[in-house]
Amino acid sequence: AGGSGAAIVDETVTTTDGRHIEVAANIGQPAELEPAAERGADGVGLYRTEFLFLDREGPPSEDEQYEAIREALDAFPDGRVVVRTLDIGGDKRIPYLDLPDEENPFLGERGIRRSLDPDSDLFATQLRALLRAAADGAGDLAIMFPLVATVKELDAALDALDAAAADVEDCSADAVDIEVGVMIETPSAAFMADELAARVDFLSIGTNDLTQYVMAADRENERVGDLHDPTHPGVLRAIHRTVRAAHAEDAWVGLCGEMAGDPELTELLVGLGLDELSMSAVTIPEVKTAVSETEYSAASERADHARLAATRSEVHTTLDT
Ligand code: PEP
Ligand code: MG
Repeated sequence: AGGSGAAIVDETVTTTDGRHIEVAANIGQPAELEPAAERGADGVGLYRTEFLFLDREGPPSEDEQYEAIREALDAFPDGRVVVRTLDIGGDKRIPYLDLPDEENPFLGERGIRRSLDPDSDLFATQLRALLRAAADGAGDLAIMFPLVATVKELDAALDALDAAAADVEDCSADAVDIEVGVMIETPSAAFMADELAARVDFLSIGTNDLTQYVMAADRENERVGDLHDPTHPGVLRAIHRTVRAAHAEDAWVGLCGEMAGDPELTELLVGLGLDELSMSAVTIPEVKTAVSETEYSAASERADHARLAATRSEVHTTLDT
């Protein structure tokens, strides 16, 4: 495989020196499954389940959620489908949930914080639906939790998963053999990646949010768009320490922020040691091709230089030479 010419679609890809990189799709709804498979996704690396909650009058039932996830698992019978539990709050508002107004929603009750709200059963319902789908669907289900900042949150989420498994007949988490992971999107999670990785099977770095919080630069605000750049060495160092921590605990580590879909950054991300890259389906063939043209050992050296640079422009000089 590889070389110039047609982009790679069907095959799984390895670097020229034999390192396999999983290339997966980010999706938000069932209609995106077929295009992702057609573009050669090895699986789904990020299923943004909050989209299943949008444009409706009320939350989807457990059965509706089961069907949606089952469809994803059946679309990738030989692959892995990483489902992120509900990630609302911040910029993602769902009118019928009637969430309280917050002065700083991006620093408020988002992601796993909201799922752990004891007054809501949305999380338990979703986890039951996921476990049932995992038991019945063709592909391998993985579940990950968004915006984790502390080990305590992860422990609570894992307890909720155990409780859901106990609720679903014939469906203990062990029986259906799912992988569990944490998104690394907060500076705390990057610093605590060793402790988090020790408790789960994988980490997935969400560089859209991680960049926003590491750089203190709103991901939506163009006035600070220069700062919201995941190739700043501050962000690259956070990625690097997360990868190192995951591998030290024998966990795999992926990256599912927008940067994963930029073929110009593939060599850098492979060099940083990521095992999986997940992106919107359109860029999958280009990124697969870029992986197949990368030599891991050289990429790794170059990535070391890039992350040890003092400035973003030095990072880019390293990448361009
Ligand atoms: C991220 O933050 O990088 C991410 C993948 O999640 P989202 O863009 O949905 O916040
Ligand atoms: Mg995010």
